[in-house]
Amino acid sequence: MKALRVHGPKQMVYEEAPRPEPGPGEVLARVKAVGLCRTDIEVWENRLYHYTVGKAKLPVIPGHEWSGVVEALGPGVDDLRIGELITCETALGCGLCQLCLSGRQNICQSRIEMGIINRDGAMAEYVVAPRSTTHQLGDMDPVVGAFAEPTAVATYAVNQAGVTPADRVLALGDGPIGLLLTQVALAYGARSVVTAGRSAAKLRLARELGATEVIDTGSEDLVARGRELTDGAGFDVVLEAVGAPHLVQQALEVVAVRGRIILAGSYVGALSTIDADLIVCKELRMLGSIGGGTNYEEAIALLGSGRVRVDALATRRASLADAPAVFEQLAEDAGDDLKVIFEP
Ligand SMILES: [Zn+2]
Ligand SMILES: [Zn+2]
Repeated sequence: MKALRVHGPKQMVYEEAPRPEPGPGEVLARVKAVGLCRTDIEVWENRLYHYTVGKAKLPVIPGHEWSGVVEALGPGVDDLRIGELITCETALGCGLCQLCLSGRQNICQSRIEMGIINRDGAMAEYVVAPRSTTHQLGDMDPVVGAFAEPTAVATYAVNQAGVTPADRVLALGDGPIGLLLTQVALAYGARSVVTAGRSAAKLRLARELGATEVIDTGSEDLVARGRELTDGAGFDVVLEAVGAPHLVQQALEVVAVRGRIILAGSYVGALSTIDADLIVCKELRMLGSIGGGTNYEEAIALLGSGRVRVDALATRRASLADAPAVFEQLAEDAGDDLKVIFEP
């Protein structure tokens, strides 16, 4: 089969690779669509946290946001049909530790992650997934199915925040995750959801997708405007998905007393000074959120019902052969692109 493999920092080759075989409890899928995520770029640059601390090693086939059709079943798997559309969770825990036993394999300290930590992902013609973390997508469009993972990431973050109809929510970031956080918070009935970002086109889309208001951080003061939009009180919930240290400080300033901040970005080791007194004096709750947690089925339901819409988020389709050039370009500047979808 053909596959895209990262061999070293910024060294990626579209090459011939042996077709993987499904082992016991595994499923072989023919990949239909795979989204390009900022995490894939950080794997390619070899600067993702797990690589800098020595937990993950190259080479690896990236790609963790995908959908594909079942091609073959490994020994012991008999409850999937050949040809049906599936996706798979990113994190595969050890299955033995207390975290895994409580369903938190996304933070299992011995976990591997498809396309990220020590297991090949889906930027290839075929991928092998464990049945235990596979989800069926029914008659969903394969491109929509490739959004199951990032939608689960957003759903998990909104769950961590415990968003209720009483909450005024700020989604920091107008990229794919920011727009998904916006929609999921709305689906949870949030009183209002404000999306903040720097792209006029993406903020326009945020409004089309239901955002109550938008803040253009290129021309507006996020904290002042945020206070204005919340009658001076600040937001009950701030969802930070950009991974920019200065936004963490701004989140502390614009969040309400007793508010909740969820950090769901990737900060790749960037150091930042924050005013920790704000956390104390406002009695803030600040939580990290990684991966889709236990929210995949919920995310798939949100996509299937149309309460979360992703058609406008798939801004470009490309073949895997073009991927090396696309990685180079998006690492430089995403421009107006939201999600690039590769169709192997
Ligand atoms: Zn991702
Ligand atoms: Zn574990």
